[in-house]
Amino acid sequence: MKAFKTEKYNDFTKPAIRQKMEKALAMTRSAFGKEYSIIIGGKKIKLDNKFHSYNPSKKGEIIGTFQKADENTAEQAMQAALETYQSWQYTPAKVRANCLFKIANIMRRRRFELDAWMVHEVGKNWIEADADVAEAIDFCDYYGLEALRYDKGATLYTYPGEINKTVYIPLGVGTVIPPWNFPLAILVGMTTASFVSGNTVILKPSSDSPVIAAKFMEIVEEAKVPVGVVNFLSGPGAIAGDYLVRHPKTRFIAFTGSKGVGLRIIEQAGKAQPGQIWIKRVVAEMGGKDLIIVDSEADIDSAVAGVRTSAFGFQGQKCSACSRLILDDKVYDEFMRKFIPTVEAIKVGPTENQENWMGPVINESAYNSILEYIKIGASEGRLACGGEPAGGNGWFIRPTVITDIEAKDRIFQEEIFGPVLAVTRARNYDHAVALANDSEYGLTGAVYTRNRAKLERAKREVNVGNLYLNRKCTGALVGIQPFGGFNMSGTDSKAGGPDYLLLFLQAKSLTEFIGKKNAVKKAPKKQARTRVKPKRRKTAKKRR
Ligand code: NAD
Repeated sequence: MKAFKTEKYNDFTKPAIRQKMEKALAMTRSAFGKEYSIIIGGKKIKLDNKFHSYNPSKKGEIIGTFQKADENTAEQAMQAALETYQSWQYTPAKVRANCLFKIANIMRRRRFELDAWMVHEVGKNWIEADADVAEAIDFCDYYGLEALRYDKGATLYTYPGEINKTVYIPLGVGTVIPPWNFPLAILVGMTTASFVSGNTVILKPSSDSPVIAAKFMEIVEEAKVPVGVVNFLSGPGAIAGDYLVRHPKTRFIAFTGSKGVGLRIIEQAGKAQPGQIWIKRVVAEMGGKDLIIVDSEADIDSAVAGVRTSAFGFQGQKCSACSRLILDDKVYDEFMRKFIPTVEAIKVGPTENQENWMGPVINESAYNSILEYIKIGASEGRLACGGEPAGGNGWFIRPTVITDIEAKDRIFQEEIFGPVLAVTRARNYDHAVALANDSEYGLTGAVYTRNRAKLERAKREVNVGNLYLNRKCTGALVGIQPFGGFNMSGTDSKAGGPDYLLLFLQAKSLTEFIGKKNAVKKAPKKQARTRVKPKRRKTAKKRR
């Protein structure tokens, strides 16, 4: 079995790498406006109702045109997925895993192109876009290997006179509903985990990033994943998404997105529909209100750099983005004196231009909502920098810092999902930990301190799914920092971790009575074997 290794990022300071990216940006730009089909059972379908994907850096510029799926198309997708499931569920794990390894290799080959689409469609800067593609590649390699591991079954104790096995089998048809903010990585992670486990999938991409999703479908086709394993259904969440979530044949839903939509999906999926014979499984990863504590004994320069990247990387539009900064009173002034100039120095503008570190927010509605939150924040506290649009012809907002915020304030409690940082003063470390936990969310957090006892206390008491010590609170790596949150941040699925595939599988225990003779010694060896190979079934038969 090959070893897992995370993918390296491109170094865009190198002229040759920069040139490749510039070429990819121009090549993808020349393909703007293309129309993409719905894909059901391998058939490409066009509908009368369409919608567009827009460039957030240039108002009104169309990146791609898509079909608006309705309930009828959603039903067709369900039928195709159900039909394909009949054979895909028995396809050997090795074949399924190989599909993922092939997808990873194609993405490696098309890396700059995928990076470029992400710059155009969601406004990531080059490095953020490249990290997103790298993560998608990592998910494929990691889940491919994980599928092979799960295929070996569970390790059990022996029992005289019996052969016992616990095997992991798929669930059925799943609906995969990703967000736009990691338009490739999260989409690829949830989709590949689903189908490498033997399930078939209906993938409903976010309407803010369907081009990247369509590029993934091209790669799925190129990797020769059998038709019908992944069905692509672009369209509004409220129609296609709702219909599939409620559908009696949907076996599971893999969702990543906002708290509101996630809770709605959990509620809808919880109602058994006529003809439904299972409890639907919902994997729901939702919002965050992530924190960084800078303690009185912290390395301030390192904390300044970590907070800046965590709060404003990809315009603060990460579920893991730092939106609550908790500063110990003793270092408050020093931190702010060093921090504010670094925020004011951030260049905001179209990320096609490599110099702009911050791009636009995703769309008009996000732009309006963020500016509204800034108004609320400025009335709750004091605007320290930013707080206004950054000009230009896109949805650009200046990185914003609002100080003198208290735990009861809305901008301390509600997810804004934009470049807005609320700063709160802590009297001491006890107070800082209490502030950290004063949230309905529990996704990521970081603590900067040189005091070992305080670090140990943070490990025990700061209630988040991903806690970082003396580093930024964003940038979890597949296979290294399994990712998922507590409380209203979701079901703590730990994407990119060893428990993740289990969410897409069910365990089946098999016991065969073989009599007392020769049972104990031979059983353990059999238990480690895989389940589907006909040759092994024959051996078992002989014994019977
Ligand atoms: P969103 O909830 O608006 O949309 C997410 C997906 O749900 C989209 O594909 C959308 O089309 C679909 N959808 C919308 N209404 C639906 C419905 N009624 N039924 C079914 N599907 C529906 O979220 P978003 O704006 O795309 O993403 C941002 C949110 O995602 C933030 O809250 C962020 O914190 C969260 N997020 C969480 C994680 C995590 O791992 N916890 C990761 C990334 C993003």
